[in-house]
Amino acid sequence: MSNLDTLIQDLVIANRVLAKEDVVDAYGHVSVRHPDNPKRFFISRSLAPELIERDDIVELDIEGQPVKDEKRSLYLERFIHAGIYATRPDVMAVVHAHAEDILPFGIAKATKLKPVIHSGSFIGGKVPVWDIRKKFGDTNLLVTNMAQGRDLAKSLGKGSVALMRGHGFASAARSIIEVVRLSVYLPRNARVQLAAMQAGKPIPLSKGEIAARAAGYKPRSPETWRAWEYWATRAGCGDMIGEPDAPAPAYDHKP
Ligand SMILES: [Zn+2]
Repeated sequence: MSNLDTLIQDLVIANRVLAKEDVVDAYGHVSVRHPDNPKRFFISRSLAPELIERDDIVELDIEGQPVKDEKRSLYLERFIHAGIYATRPDVMAVVHAHAEDILPFGIAKATKLKPVIHSGSFIGGKVPVWDIRKKFGDTNLLVTNMAQGRDLAKSLGKGSVALMRGHGFASAARSIIEVVRLSVYLPRNARVQLAAMQAGKPIPLSKGEIAARAAGYKPRSPETWRAWEYWATRAGCGDMIGEPDAPAPAYDHKP
């Protein structure tokens, strides 16, 4: 299988994993940048992530438009992905979802989402909240054009996650596995923070702890693979993943 085939297979697995782990439901999506053409990315046609197969994956350009003639419906919110890829050359994979546990932090202004558990460290020390109304007035809250996608990406800045007021979140990372991990642990971190707030004042991870966690992460390390294998198996696609000893694919981030 070529690197591109593996990448698309991993994108299918990522969709199924995010569905199984309740990050997405009928809505929400994950994409990956083309490893050989940074101005393109892959994402499914408009379909619930749990149902996605290889043939559902389409290639879009950096403006969110299909590269080939496409009769099938596309995600209305594909501009979230296009906006982030256009703005952040370091980002190779993006997730957008409406996971319920994170929503309170996008609505309650005084309460900031913070990393409070070790597995939540990857959300970063400061998680911005993007409010579509600030620049675009009253909308249906969906990100349906490049201006909105770029504005969201601006709010994301150099970070990994932006919350979207009254809607959901966008997360960005250097690989599919990394963005899946980030998006799986983000709602869990939010849930734990909310529970801790009922019991007292939560203690967030320190800057040093966040940095130490980031420094210790290696794509395709045995620890990373363990999670990928576990999630894929739970999602019913354990037979679709490659070999743990395979050389790092070209799309893995190289610092
Ligand atoms: Zn949405």
